[in-house]
Amino acid sequence: MKIVLLGPPGAGKGTQAEVLTKKLLVPHISTGDMFRAAIKNGTAMGIEAKSYMDRGQLVPDEVTVGIIKDRIAQSDCSGGFLLDGFPRTIAQAEALDKLLEDKGGLDAVLNISVPLEKLVERLTGRRMCRKCGAIYHMLYNAPAKEGVCDACGGELYQRDDDKLETVTNRLDVYEAQTAPLIGFYEQQGKLFTVNGDQPINAVLADLGKALGQDWA
Ligand code: ADP
Ligand code: ADP
Ligand code: ZN
Repeated sequence: MKIVLLGPPGAGKGTQAEVLTKKLLVPHISTGDMFRAAIKNGTAMGIEAKSYMDRGQLVPDEVTVGIIKDRIAQSDCSGGFLLDGFPRTIAQAEALDKLLEDKGGLDAVLNISVPLEKLVERLTGRRMCRKCGAIYHMLYNAPAKEGVCDACGGELYQRDDDKLETVTNRLDVYEAQTAPLIGFYEQQGKLFTVNGDQPINAVLADLGKALGQDWA
């Protein structure tokens, strides 16, 4: 199973990927998580990526395609993978098709659709665990104890790019650069759109249906 999760910032890609990858037994590959890890480790790539992320801009395609190329060449990806947050431009999607040319290409692109006006609230209310990366929302997916991760006890924090100033930019960047991927994958006959404006479990069930699974 080689799957892409598509959708605007805040659609629920990371939230669904946490569960989907456990059910499908494939690795979860999030370029956002990879960039945040590189920033934490202070690598040159992390420092470069941060300058774009802080402004809500996309990291250049050469950098992003490079890290994906290395990642999907690793042995744990031989049985498939779930891409979350990649591709985000037509150039990235074309590069991915090239990388998968001899591997049968992508199996499915799951597009999680959420109305724009809901996304600001989802992003500004998002909290993440510093230790394990688990995703919460102050209203819609609150931890049992405020500020503390249910899964690992780690500290919850707000991403710098989830502050209101940057969120607006990221949504504009999505519309301009990433939304065209919907048509791109529709043309390939690989696109499945699910309604992301429902409770987390209902979205999961619909994603399962798109993949021919019964998880309801
Ligand atoms: P979101 O919650 O918006 O989906 P991510 O964690 O996926 O956020 O990404 C955070 C930031 O990392 C993006 O705003 C962008 O700067 C950078 N980034 C992540 N994936 C990509 C990509 N495929 N191409 C370019 N930049 C990316
Ligand atoms: P993405 O990876 O697409 O940016 P996330 O999975 O990080 O999105 O979700 C963004 C925010 O919205 C998080 O705070 C998450 O807890 C919350 N969220 C995710 N799915 C839903 C949902 N179906 N209903 C309400 N809130 C949700
Ligand atoms: Zn945690």
